[in-house]
Amino acid sequence: MQPLSLPPRLLMGPGPINCYPRVLSAMSTQLVGQYDPTMTDYMNDVMALYRQVFNTQNEQTFLIDGTSRAGIEAAIVSILEPGDKVLVPIFGRFGHLLAEIAERADAEVHTIEIPWGDVFKPEQIEDAIKKVQPKLLAIVQGDTSTTMLQPLEELGAICRAHDVLFYTDATASIAGNPFETDKWQIDAVSVGLQKCLGGPSGSAPISLSERFVHSVRQRHHVEAGIRDAHHKDANGQRIRSNYFDLSMIMDYWGEERLNHHTEAATMLFGARECAVALLTEGQDAVLKRHQLAGDAMLAGIQAMGLTPFGDLDHKMANVVGVNIPDSVDGEAIRKELLTTFNIEIGTSFGPLKGKVWRIGTMGYNARQDAVLHTLQSLETVLRRGGCKLPLGEAVDTAMSIYRNGD
Ligand SMILES: *Cc1c(COP(=O)(O)O)cnc(C)c1O
Repeated sequence: MQPLSLPPRLLMGPGPINCYPRVLSAMSTQLVGQYDPTMTDYMNDVMALYRQVFNTQNEQTFLIDGTSRAGIEAAIVSILEPGDKVLVPIFGRFGHLLAEIAERADAEVHTIEIPWGDVFKPEQIEDAIKKVQPKLLAIVQGDTSTTMLQPLEELGAICRAHDVLFYTDATASIAGNPFETDKWQIDAVSVGLQKCLGGPSGSAPISLSERFVHSVRQRHHVEAGIRDAHHKDANGQRIRSNYFDLSMIMDYWGEERLNHHTEAATMLFGARECAVALLTEGQDAVLKRHQLAGDAMLAGIQAMGLTPFGDLDHKMANVVGVNIPDSVDGEAIRKELLTTFNIEIGTSFGPLKGKVWRIGTMGYNARQDAVLHTLQSLETVLRRGGCKLPLGEAVDTAMSIYRNGD
């Protein structure tokens, strides 16, 4: 039997990305029992750290064990009862995922859509809220499928004015773009580690406002510390998932520590280290590092003579879509980058399939050397593929962005 052996890839796609080395180290830590006071202290510590990551005072801030969509699913199946109305504005692939998960919860799903590469104006969302009168607005902040960052600042006030709960999936955007749970009046947010937080996928940090918690709790009752899992609310609709039942998961993370699942301790150590890495470097410094890497990558791509995809005023800092030149086979270029240079960039889905590459500069890889290696290698592969390019311009331009940005 061979030992585990993987190539030393530089992951410059839309996620996953290479982990911070300190996160990998933290994940090789030996376990203690799940109710060992050391472990429960670390669970409390993780809650406090992620309150800082999310910029919130929300008591209910913890981890869902599973990839990012575990967080999405926990929020949606726990809040929506069959027949509840939800509004999902869709501007990319992950909007469709939110709608699909809500459909599976038998909610009444209303969607509005715009072309990929655009974002919604607050008025468009408010008009739809007035028409639909949903219980929940569910919207993605940064959709890696289109690279767009939906402004959320004004949506919280709109939701409060119409008595709507406000959920967002900030998996792709958190730690690379500003995110303010409390200031923006967001009721529920979930993320994953494998984008700008610099960890592996497998843990989904989540934060819930008191309003949201109250609404979830109405569906379940816990009396004298004994869970009656068969208890149903007035409509007889209990949460249709055990694993993603936020009411039970909150009791597990809460003071009573009611048994639910076995905490995925190794993922918790990783998630904790992602938060520590972010907060030690400082949120502002990390945002600036992502902005600089994203600006340098964008400028380098443009200097090479390639054109970026979508509305640049609303691009996420941490990923750029690149229109694939007509003269090349996009998949052949990606393959050559991977096999010859050990660099992975992303392909695209749906309407952008075969038309756009996606290049990420996230977490550990939001670094000057990673940006420069990627630009230089892409230039070389394109040149050898027959493209006429202004040689050396991409790296020179990216370096000058770094020089001016420091
Ligand atoms: C990358 C991404 C995810 C990832 O979900 P997983 O379950 O971790 O694969 C979810 N939402 C958005 C917006 C993303 O960009």
